[in-house]
Amino acid sequence: MRKDNIDLICSVAELSGLFEKRSNVGGFLQDVVELVAAHMHSDVCSIYLYDERRDDLVLRATRGLNQESVDSVRLSLGEGLTGLSLKQLRPIRDGNVTENPDFKRIPQINEEGYNSFLAVPIRRGLTRIGVISLQHKKANYFGEHDMKALRAIASQLAATLENASLLMDIHEEHGESEVVTGDGPDAVITGISAGTGIGIGKAVHLDSADALASPQLSRLPTVEEEVERFKRAIEATRSQLEQLQIETERSFSDVASLIFSSHLLMLRDEEFSGQMLDSVRDGVNPGEAVQMVVGRYVKLFSGMNNPRLQEKVQDVKDLGHRILRNLGEAKSEHGDYSGQVVIAGELYPSELVKLAAQHVEGIVIGGTTVTSHISILARSLDIPVVFTRNEKILLVPENTDLIVDGPSGTIYIEPDKTTRKKYEKERASDRRRLDRDTGVPRECRSACGERVRIMANVNLINDIRFAKRNHAEGVGLYRSEFPFIVRNDFPSEEEQHAIYRKIIEQMEGQEIVLRTLDIGGDKLVARDGGGAQEANPFLGQRGIRFSLANPDIFSDQLRAMLRAGAGADLSIMFPMISGVDEFMRAREHLNECKESLRTEGVAFNENPSVGAMIELPSAIDIAGDLDRNADFLCVGTNDLIMYLLGVDRTNDRVSNLYVSHHPAVLRSIARLVEHVHDPANRLSICGEAAGDPHMVQFFLGLGIRRLSVEPRRIPSLKSLIGATELSRAAGIAGEMLSISSAEELRKYLSDRAS
Ligand code: PEP
Ligand code: MG
Repeated sequence: MRKDNIDLICSVAELSGLFEKRSNVGGFLQDVVELVAAHMHSDVCSIYLYDERRDDLVLRATRGLNQESVDSVRLSLGEGLTGLSLKQLRPIRDGNVTENPDFKRIPQINEEGYNSFLAVPIRRGLTRIGVISLQHKKANYFGEHDMKALRAIASQLAATLENASLLMDIHEEHGESEVVTGDGPDAVITGISAGTGIGIGKAVHLDSADALASPQLSRLPTVEEEVERFKRAIEATRSQLEQLQIETERSFSDVASLIFSSHLLMLRDEEFSGQMLDSVRDGVNPGEAVQMVVGRYVKLFSGMNNPRLQEKVQDVKDLGHRILRNLGEAKSEHGDYSGQVVIAGELYPSELVKLAAQHVEGIVIGGTTVTSHISILARSLDIPVVFTRNEKILLVPENTDLIVDGPSGTIYIEPDKTTRKKYEKERASDRRRLDRDTGVPRECRSACGERVRIMANVNLINDIRFAKRNHAEGVGLYRSEFPFIVRNDFPSEEEQHAIYRKIIEQMEGQEIVLRTLDIGGDKLVARDGGGAQEANPFLGQRGIRFSLANPDIFSDQLRAMLRAGAGADLSIMFPMISGVDEFMRAREHLNECKESLRTEGVAFNENPSVGAMIELPSAIDIAGDLDRNADFLCVGTNDLIMYLLGVDRTNDRVSNLYVSHHPAVLRSIARLVEHVHDPANRLSICGEAAGDPHMVQFFLGLGIRRLSVEPRRIPSLKSLIGATELSRAAGIAGEMLSISSAEELRKYLSDRAS
């Protein structure tokens, strides 16, 4: 059927003009959807407007869907095809949405039976205003023409709708506090996912030292009773911390040595608890006494420039929190973060480990951007963590019910019963899955019977149990920087040796690739005195550059690796290699370490394989030369994509540009493969893309047979490869290399997935 597109665009322009004279915004929007639906011969037309305060979309008008859902249905950015259209600021057209995994069916709006879907974002420059969408029962109903027309309409409407949206927000604001809360339909904040799993619990602010309620007493306690209560709380805190230190060292021995030592030290310090006790003896309520002293220490540490002391600020707050919980007696059995979701403005890696050890349910980091070490660590610790720039999260009152959906990066504030039930179910099944032997095959073979080696990326020793359960064939990447980053220190050769030895022993003779320190960029270790601040840390002293500039630290690490690898299948790999000279200098340093160990008569691995990571565009161009000088090469796609495309891997403003299927990325990797002799055995991929189902066939198609991924991704990766014919994968890789547009490649991959 012909659609009256031109007439429509003119009518919409007229309508926009009329808007200024109307008093009812809802009525205006309804006029628009009626008009557009009629002219486009569409069964449904809906307008969703972006609510900046809540960072989500609200259905504001519809012709064809349930009218009762207007003003109540909310979608977070990226949720469903509508949310995705606004998040990625691109039109989405689908002739059969039921097949589309991104399509989200919302039960209460009666959208069953509509097969065709077309959504166009409404924007003013970079400002998101909303989405206009059409739906029709007939499959493949909307064509390229309709999309163009709807885009024209969206741009006609943009200015008017921006005003409409503001007005609606102002109307709704009356009576609402500044704080984001929800009742009935959830208040939802979308952020960036940094961890796995689901966290459900009560909000607690890491940055506040609010007192918990004292126990309800029928009469006012005497000073002696309060002194006793305070002493009991201090004693409980001390014994919990000692126990916690023992347990944490058992589970996180690589990163958690003495991690609670400053808590214990402070607790024993007469000045700290003594000042509190004196105040209680003077008749001050114990909760207040704790807050007063904690506040004084926080001020003291915050005023110092040394980053090590800055970190202590959090330790004092954390300790105060624990004492307060223990003062609340009935409120918490362990004084830890069980049943709580922590909200923080920023978080150090060591705090993340401390919170994990104290059984935190989930973490929301507000008003800041993602840091890759926190994301990587959160996944290894199995904590749902979401980063959001939306500072409103910091205003959520303590004890508010929260749900943190780690994988999607969504935070639900005061979720309704249905949402809560759904997530409780999901969390329970997640936990069962983690505890179960998943029956993953030991060997990985393609459908045509060829071996593909799947190894594990290990960040913490904690990852090894999953690696083994999923039958990883070795460790393809051990990120050795985590003990440094979490401890905020440079562990000695002996301490490092103990960690590497444990990894090697636990993997029972399988191949282990230890990567030397990759700090710098946003993976920071605060050096004494703060170290030199770099204007562009990603282009600064990162990875191998740091090691070469700090030969003593480099030697400690290489000696620890060589010694731990005695008698083992050991490989050592250097990160961020930009050229042959750098690689040869690192290799030379390794030889010197061997020489010194030989002279000392210490047992070590004489012949580890020595490899270079390919993470910089320059390394691609000299791949042949690197290949001649190295024993193996390993592609770090996380950084390679960033440096090739000039897109910061941690910046959510440009996350839509950070794509592994960009033609430049694909062609660079293909070029690399051409220059490596025996790529099946000497080349591996260890960035996130190695576990991305869309990319795996491409890698296999190029002849790559070694992939290293997060242990939890191994089962799905092995089953995907088991269903892949390698000749077909080669065809796919060839087709992908012939496409020059990233958008077309995205379509190609999503068509193949459906
Ligand atoms: C990479 O860059 O792909 C990689 C594996 O290293 P990291 O993520 O530790 O920088
Ligand atoms: Mg890297």
